Amino acid sequence: MNQTASCCMCKEKAQKYIKVLDGYICEDCERVISTLDVDDVKYEYYNIILKRLWHKFLVSM
Ligand SMILES: [Zn+2]
Repeated sequence: MNQTASCCMCKEKAQKYIKVLDGYICEDCERVISTLDVDDVKYEYYNIILKRLWHKFLVSM
């Protein structure tokens, strides 16, 4: 299988990704997220995107 998905974090086409709710997160971003500190500026950014995913997911239910 050689499917690609557009990462919802970096917008890159990724071959290795995880599905989170209605979106996809590439392997790179997933690794970044797992190493981020809560007080990192980027954490806030990822948090916003994840919240948006949740919102979309809940609205579509
Ligand atoms: Zn990504």
